[in-house]
Amino acid sequence: VAKTGRRPQTHVDGDLRLLTKRCGSGQTTSLEAYLADGGYTALKKALAMSSTSVIEEIKASGLVGRGGAAFPTGLKWESAAQAQGSPKYVVCNADEAEPGTFKDRVLMEDDPHQILEGMIISAYAIGAEKGYFYIRGEYLNAYHTIQRAVEEARTANLLGAHILGSDFSFDIEIRRGAGAYICGEETALFESIEGKRGFPRVKPPFPTTHGLFGKPTVINNVETLANVPLILNLGAKEYRKIGTEKSPGPKLFCLSGDVHQPGLYEVPFGVTLRHLIFDLGGGLRSDVPFQAALIGGAAGTFATSDHLDTPLSFEGLRSAGLTLGSGVITVFDAQRDLRDVLYRLARFFAEESCGKCYPCQIGTQRQYEILARLRNGQFLPGDIERLQDVGWTMTDASLCGLGQTAASAILSALKYWPHLFQPAQPA
Ligand code: SF4
Repeated sequence: VAKTGRRPQTHVDGDLRLLTKRCGSGQTTSLEAYLADGGYTALKKALAMSSTSVIEEIKASGLVGRGGAAFPTGLKWESAAQAQGSPKYVVCNADEAEPGTFKDRVLMEDDPHQILEGMIISAYAIGAEKGYFYIRGEYLNAYHTIQRAVEEARTANLLGAHILGSDFSFDIEIRRGAGAYICGEETALFESIEGKRGFPRVKPPFPTTHGLFGKPTVINNVETLANVPLILNLGAKEYRKIGTEKSPGPKLFCLSGDVHQPGLYEVPFGVTLRHLIFDLGGGLRSDVPFQAALIGGAAGTFATSDHLDTPLSFEGLRSAGLTLGSGVITVFDAQRDLRDVLYRLARFFAEESCGKCYPCQIGTQRQYEILARLRNGQFLPGDIERLQDVGWTMTDASLCGLGQTAASAILSALKYWPHLFQPAQPA
């Protein structure tokens, strides 16, 4: 794993500063500063409640996972709490590797205790005594920051035996990935922690009953866990006033590409794509008009200028045929060669497919070959049909989310810009 130096500070802004309140200053929030700002109040509140009441509060908040799958967090916790078997585990999925995504990195590097607090509350709710924090291998700064924060928390009895004098004991072990995108898939991540090759498992059984080491496990994304202290501090009713009825809460968006001010933006669910790109991001970097935005990263779908007024909420995007993914938005101006973009996406999936199942192992290779031909102007008759056939097969028959979404961006480009997939006509 390559060592990474301190990056230039990520621009952090938005309509809200709830999850990112302490982010963007270039300083990591220490335990002392976090406590001075009301940190770990939510944990104290949780410890004074029954574990069932904590789960009910999370369910009432309507929180859904921010890692891409959008599964209701409270239901996940309830299922693990009710599952037979022990020990139980809590895992923080910090293997943030979707191209264009950096929100979890900023949260980890700038405000680590917010995530730890969410993780400790999750453990209390389901009855777990051990947690794993799985960090993307390339995120060396985040790893060191979380390591320091865990040590600070242990010293302050926020981790370890009898947390804050209660009957609840919990500790966290940190693990680093080794550069494989597939290890962000929850069951491949479990395999990786268990010391095996990062191959996704067949589901069901689901992690809440048969997760890490075959035991009941809750695995949550970094941003999801950062919402937990906020919910307990505000109360579910107040939390639900943020965002839309069906997509409550704040959302972090990673805005990049041809925008004037790329960065991490916190907004309530439901603002439009236009607001994010033009009001918050300052519009396009040059005078070249907007061409497209890729929403959801490599596994996402393209939006066109017709989508600019689409609300950024689960229901708004779904009704426009788009997906939120983990909240990545990459903007392309009209000078960008989308054929080259599609080629790079296809190459990414061909390289990152783990090869366990054939639709994805073979499909990502064939998709890449066709798009390489397209980029070189050597498109063959029947390539559009082949691309569709391969894409639909991967979507329907692949074992895990990687293969199921490896053709999403390409199929959406086929829908909006079919001329891109035709040989150039002689002038
Ligand atoms: Fe591996 Fe792709 Fe199959 Fe997922 S879909 S198990 S990444 S080969």
